[in-house]
Amino acid sequence: MELILEKGRLDDWIAALEGWQAFAPSQEDEVWGYRPTASPVRLDHPNTVQPPKNFAFPQREVFFRFEQVKGEPPRLTPVEPDAARNVVFGVRPCDGRGVVRMDTVFSDHVEDSFYLGRRKNLAYVGLACLKPASRHCFCKSVGGSPVSTEGLDVLMTDLGDCWLLASATPVGETLMQAAGALLTEPSAEQRMELARRHEEALARPQKSAVADVGNAATRLKDNFDSPLWEELGKACIACGICTYLCPTCHCFDLNDEVSGGKPLRGGRVRTWDSCQFPDFTMHSSGHNPRDSLGSRLRQRVSHKFRYFVENFGTPQCTGCGRCVSQCPVGIDIVNVVNRVCASV
Ligand code: SF4
Ligand code: SF4
Repeated sequence: MELILEKGRLDDWIAALEGWQAFAPSQEDEVWGYRPTASPVRLDHPNTVQPPKNFAFPQREVFFRFEQVKGEPPRLTPVEPDAARNVVFGVRPCDGRGVVRMDTVFSDHVEDSFYLGRRKNLAYVGLACLKPASRHCFCKSVGGSPVSTEGLDVLMTDLGDCWLLASATPVGETLMQAAGALLTEPSAEQRMELARRHEEALARPQKSAVADVGNAATRLKDNFDSPLWEELGKACIACGICTYLCPTCHCFDLNDEVSGGKPLRGGRVRTWDSCQFPDFTMHSSGHNPRDSLGSRLRQRVSHKFRYFVENFGTPQCTGCGRCVSQCPVGIDIVNVVNRVCASV
């Protein structure tokens, strides 16, 4: 389904989405992030600092609560994931591909009911990148496209005075049908303009690129013991920003948080974790198999470009460039992959 929405009617479409809570990029304290929509929604944002992964995988969530009275069995109370239906506007195609990777991880072998419970009530309305959203974007060199619909329910393309909306899933069709008469059939000229803009976007060079993604898994395996890892990793301050802001990083920790008092109360809590933290792999014996900055950088990069390829046939990295633009010490994953893969 391909239909036209006039630029001034985006808020009307959002208002017509009954039963959905809408989110879109906005700027607060100079930081672009996804927040509840406030009129007027413009969708002229750069790539957001935070990806939309927290909608299905929040940074902190409680699985169940418990209460322990001395001498009695513990009483457990399950916590159901929020059943709200959320629709997220302005999602870039690299983050749409990130959604697909997260879906894969959270449904492989074991179905994660918390993630999947949120995911089934979640829709993504994407925005085609007619020009790269930042100088750090490299989606094309990792198999992506600035006009990809992967992971998205609707893709919006800016045609100047209007948007062309293309549904990519049945959920996307439902969202578009809710707009009713706000949407009109595109003219032949508008369809031609869409094709022209997409072709231009596909042809536009990106400043950053993984040189040979097809051979990266093999080259990373060959160079597992390369001294380059420690050299490239020595600037890292182990802040974890690269993983927290990555649309595909999904490692987490589980803890029982106890509030104390009588009876003892608490909850089992899942929180994001990071392979860049020194204690991520710390054993209770005190042994740490990844005790150096280089070994932790190698793990992050190898997970993106080797292990995920070995497990699922595709790189995990979608080329959003956030880990590059936000790293406080300038560690660039593209540079790391290219240098390690090129070394002998
Ligand atoms: S953002 Fe940079 S400094 Fe921080 S953990 Fe990642 S690589 Fe290290
Ligand atoms: S590894 Fe870096 S560039 Fe790749 S998807 Fe994650 S944050 Fe984006």
